[in-house]
Amino acid sequence: MAFQGSCHCGAVKFSVDADLPKQAMSCNCSICRRKGTLMAFFPAAKVKLEGEDALKGYQFNKHRLTHWFCKTCGIHPFGGGIGPDGTEMRAINLRCVPEADLDALSIQKFDGASV
Ligand SMILES: [Zn+2]
Repeated sequence: MAFQGSCHCGAVKFSVDADLPKQAMSCNCSICRRKGTLMAFFPAAKVKLEGEDALKGYQFNKHRLTHWFCKTCGIHPFGGGIGPDGTEMRAINLRCVPEADLDALSIQKFDGASV
């Protein structure tokens, strides 16, 4: 079953062709600690986007990842990058998915600050 999400103002919408995950990753790197995202990873091919023009990408450090955010409301619905096996991936921010029960997610902590 696919699940859907959006930024706050609704300019950016996404649909992920997968079941709603039960786990999410919380990372302590310099940007994730500021954004407070709870991420789940999917191949980009499984993520359908609407309103791409409303997005702006932010990169830093090694520029391996792009942190996409809505130019209007500033919310970060997802990030993107190339996975270890060469697949283009999307890190979906489950906080932007209204049907996700955030308190029920099993949170995996990732020590991005030390990478
Ligand atoms: Zn927005």
